[in-house]
Amino acid sequence: QWIFLSGEFVRKEDAVISVYDHGFLYGDGVFEGLRVYSGNVFKLEEHLDRLYDSAKSIMLEVPYTKEEMTSIITGTVQRNQLESAYIRVVVSRGAGNLGLDPAACAEPRVVVIAEKLSMFPEELYDQGLRLGSVASRRNRPDVLSPQVKSLNYLNNILVKIEANQAGVDEALMLNDQGYVTEGSADNIFIVKNGTIYTPPVHLGALEGITRNTIIELAEEAGYKMKEQAFTRHDVFVADEVFLTGTAVEVIAAVDVDGRKIADGRPGEVTRHLRTLFKERVTTDGVQ
Ligand code: PLP
Repeated sequence: QWIFLSGEFVRKEDAVISVYDHGFLYGDGVFEGLRVYSGNVFKLEEHLDRLYDSAKSIMLEVPYTKEEMTSIITGTVQRNQLESAYIRVVVSRGAGNLGLDPAACAEPRVVVIAEKLSMFPEELYDQGLRLGSVASRRNRPDVLSPQVKSLNYLNNILVKIEANQAGVDEALMLNDQGYVTEGSADNIFIVKNGTIYTPPVHLGALEGITRNTIIELAEEAGYKMKEQAFTRHDVFVADEVFLTGTAVEVIAAVDVDGRKIADGRPGEVTRHLRTLFKERVTTDGVQ
């Protein structure tokens, strides 16, 4: 396996970075997760836009143009001869000293890892997930915007730990006003009386690229789609609940805080949108 590491392809065993890298010392950096379907990188432009926006927000300059990054990413996929894969792009502040000041970091580091995807077991999609709400709250947008995919994912990790301890598959995260925002690394949708709802991102959710694709597909398919705030109660009494994300794609949730959602099985709208998504990923993408 070949990893792109700041200008060259190195073998996985040799892909190492400095312990003085502020990405390691302080979580100072940004990242993206992408997918390759049938040899094509899905929504590459959108992921690059989000990466560069995240970097800009934390005053980190990506040392390549978007065009260069495009060839680096597709080059990494080709070099590893991958037809279907998960890609991780990391830009860290680079090596500095033990102080916080990023001014000490001369050169950002860029890492691209593309590897075979360890798919979630198919039965998880057939059965649906169990969700549990957690005590951790989404960062307030005036502290650190949820749109920044920073290397400091501690918030999301704490949420995952809470979910693990509660014995559920994924967490339901609320904002400081108690509105539902998202999962630990995925967006949430509910279906009620034929209308599909997802929280507006300003409530404190990442504007997921899968989320946006699902909104587009739902509208194309003629569903009523609304970006609207909702609470745990609305989730409990929904006809269907599902999550979206680059890793999980579209997956139903059938139990939320011990409340069975409808008949406890993935619903029709969720299954339809998953099919439409599967079709879209194979016909769209950058080679
Ligand atoms: N929310 C968070 C916090 C995430 O980290 C992710 C994963 O990237 C998502 C939502 C889903 O976004 P996307 O569909 O772009 O992968």
